[in-house]
Amino acid sequence: MVPPVGRTAVRRLPEKQVHDRAALDAVLDAGLVAHVAVHDDGGQPYVVPVGYARDGDSVLIHGSTASRLFRSLAEGAPTCLTVTLLDGLVLARSVFESSMHYRSAMVLGMATTLEGPDQVRGLERVSEHLMPGRWADARQPSRKELAATLVLSLPLVEWSVKVSDGPPDDATDDLALPVWAGILPLHERYGQPTPAPDLRDGLDVPEYVRGWTRR
Ligand SMILES: Cc1cc2nc3c(=O)[nH]c(=O)nc-3n(C[C@H](O)[C@H](O)[C@H](O)COP(=O)(O)OP(=O)(O)OC[C@H]3O[C@@H](n4cnc5c(N)ncnc54)[C@H](O)[C@@H]3O)c2cc1C
Repeated sequence: MVPPVGRTAVRRLPEKQVHDRAALDAVLDAGLVAHVAVHDDGGQPYVVPVGYARDGDSVLIHGSTASRLFRSLAEGAPTCLTVTLLDGLVLARSVFESSMHYRSAMVLGMATTLEGPDQVRGLERVSEHLMPGRWADARQPSRKELAATLVLSLPLVEWSVKVSDGPPDDATDDLALPVWAGILPLHERYGQPTPAPDLRDGLDVPEYVRGWTRR
């Protein structure tokens, strides 16, 4: 349990903050895309979407050594990483009270660069989070590809989780309005696999791919 203090104490609707570490792991393990903040020398902020994986007590991200985001983070720039799971729309009687069901995580801190066997293991972890079973099937990274890739580890030390899951919270005066109110759940799902146009003959969609599901 992490007490709601400091930079990660939710001030706006604090009742939506969830303090259990298991809740953080659940959000990070369910998501596929993280948004990672960085700013340039002039102070212009950028928020960059990337694939990621949780690895125990860290979040791993990987990218090109030519990427502004990754170079800056590798040099020790502080960052903020968020993962957002959108679970539905909340249709209130008023536009003002209309909102969303979500689970979101925010992690603050500085990343370190993984090197040698840790770099390869980090890449495997990210690959297996995004595409379970693929690492053993697809060609592994070459030495040249590894040299062009930064793998960064952001520790799960300063973090917060916010969950919104209640019914519409309309003002009492609005309850009698002739307007439908409720929740419209939203789900992600994979579509039908489409073979590459240059796929060699005799290859079917792997069984492990057929087993992938979303929430
Ligand atoms: C899908 C989605 C849609 C949203 N839509 C809106 C919207 O349209 N308008 C709006 O005002 N807000 C929206 N929110 C909530 C928004 O993310 C902020 O929580 C809210 O705006 C308060 O921001 P703040 O900077 O005042 O937070 P504060 O409560 O002051 O933030 C303090 C600390 O709380 C934590 N925190 C704040 N927000 C989050 C979060 N979402 N997840 C995890 N930790 C958090 C961070 O550690 C932060 O440093 C949405 C959230 C999600 C996930």
